Amino acid sequence: MGNILDGSALAKKMRAEIKIETEKYINKYHVQPHLAVILVGADPASETYVKFKEKACNQVGMKSTVINKPSDITERELLEIIAEMNNDPLVHGILLQLPIPDHIDLEKVINAISPEKDVDGFANENVAKLSKNQDALVPCTPLGIIRLLEEYKIKTEGEHCVILGRSQIVGKPMAQLMLQKNSTVTICHSRSKNLPELAKQADILIAAVGKAHMVDETFVKEGAVVIDVGVSRIDGVIYGDVNFDKVKDKASYITPMPGGTGPMTIACLLENTLKCYLNLVG
Ligand code: NAP
Repeated sequence: MGNILDGSALAKKMRAEIKIETEKYINKYHVQPHLAVILVGADPASETYVKFKEKACNQVGMKSTVINKPSDITERELLEIIAEMNNDPLVHGILLQLPIPDHIDLEKVINAISPEKDVDGFANENVAKLSKNQDALVPCTPLGIIRLLEEYKIKTEGEHCVILGRSQIVGKPMAQLMLQKNSTVTICHSRSKNLPELAKQADILIAAVGKAHMVDETFVKEGAVVIDVGVSRIDGVIYGDVNFDKVKDKASYITPMPGGTGPMTIACLLENTLKCYLNLVG
């Protein structure tokens, strides 16, 4: 069986380090890092994610405020809340929990968040900076995957990384980060042909599709590194994109689900919040 890329263990280590850093900076600047999370509506999955994020902040000594608004909030009201957070010197990071209702222009509200407080790295300024290899706030899930690859000293230079999924949240920023790591990158999506054949070329395969257990042994080359990002809920059970049992013996390294990319995403949210804080306060 392949080695486990233990996201829970690395996230725990990162949280402990961030806690020490946070204490140090609070003593130095007398200001507590503060993440404001805006939650629109009452989607149970979103509520759970927001609770995890709030708890993670509090555990490392950061302040977190959750602004919960009903799903019929107007775009203008949401923009006003974001403006208030942008102008509050005691708020360092702003996160808009997705998805938001369809009547709100997602691009408009995401880009209303000050790029300096954009802990998710979704605003245009951060997307552009990432694509130009400039210092940017990088989306937490791809950043977490990079941290995992670094921790386990996975070779990336010259390796072929195949990414399943081309979203703004995972697939595209992941591709940028792997290019920065000197991998050769292929991005696949719903119109790609011969997906298993493409995936089987990967030295590093990253699945971010959201189709339960889509990736089986026919997608994986012997010795590949396999990273599972997908989360699907079917009848209350959570599945990754990767069928772990079918793939584990072919992979050299593999993320478990749960305990892989999920905890790393939260750890990187804390990393980004501290980064915003230091840029603003330090
Ligand atoms: P998304 O915006 O829905 O994007 C999914 C991507 O998968 C799209 O690019 C889509 O292609 C592609 N796709 C859909 N069906 C496909 C198929 N049959 N074959 C190949 N590609 C296909 O989702 P996302 O936000 O990127 O998230 C992806 C998954 O990761 C979701 O399950 C999400 O819940 C999960 N996630 C997990 C974490 C974590 O911390 N572990 C964080 C974020 C997201 P098109 O572009 O052609 O539509």
